[in-house]
Amino acid sequence: MQNKKKIIVANWKMNKGYIEGLLLTNSVISSTPSHYDLQIVFCPPFIHLQTMAAMIKDYPLFSLGAQNCHEEKNGAYTGEISAEMLSSVGVQYVIVGHSERRNYCKESDDQLRKKLVQVVENKMIPIFCIGESLEDFQNNNTKLVLERQLEILKTLDIDNENPFFIAYEPVWSIGTGKNANIYEVNHAVQIIEKFIEAQFSHWKVKILYGGSVNEKNANSFFEIERLDGLLVGGASLKSPEFTELLKNVSLK
Ligand code: PEP
Repeated sequence: MQNKKKIIVANWKMNKGYIEGLLLTNSVISSTPSHYDLQIVFCPPFIHLQTMAAMIKDYPLFSLGAQNCHEEKNGAYTGEISAEMLSSVGVQYVIVGHSERRNYCKESDDQLRKKLVQVVENKMIPIFCIGESLEDFQNNNTKLVLERQLEILKTLDIDNENPFFIAYEPVWSIGTGKNANIYEVNHAVQIIEKFIEAQFSHWKVKILYGGSVNEKNANSFFEIERLDGLLVGGASLKSPEFTELLKNVSLK
């Protein structure tokens, strides 16, 4: 991949207490040279957002994302966080439709559609995750599943001037140590690209891959010319591994 800023999204999931999170952030920032041509998005748990916004303020390589938001604008939804609240503390990205939330929280297409609207209306960039299960992968249903998951974009009534990220994350490769290979990722990227070209050629879509990416394999995915970045879970939780990953992808 030539001449474009690679995007690396660090999804901490439900990990790191307050002090631990701050130490990790501090260590990654101080170990990452400012000349790297990367856009690094920290997606920590909600409790860290405000403090981390202040910590990254003077480091243009870094920005802040949330792992989720509620689908309604505001109101009586005890325990929930709205897109508007996220934006108010400096969040610029929101992950929507991560397979863990689709599976454990049973998030529906309608909820995901509403979340996307909230994110975009609040001028943040969605990181919309799609991906097939192991069963669908084994039955060669990847194309079918991805196209079905992308369908909800058609119902979005948004005038999208901002970038829109789509992350291909095969469910069978998340946290399993089992990557999709470069041909499988390329296949998914082509499906996404074709769908986007046909429907949303005016959107500024960035395509990411996620699934057991680590410091050793991260670079290989950038053989795919159209790939813009990576979504990294487990390997973003330890500073030495994550900073090594950043170094490796910045060299290519
Ligand atoms: C993820 O959280 O989206 C993810 C890809 O996790 P991991 O890198 O641990 O597979």
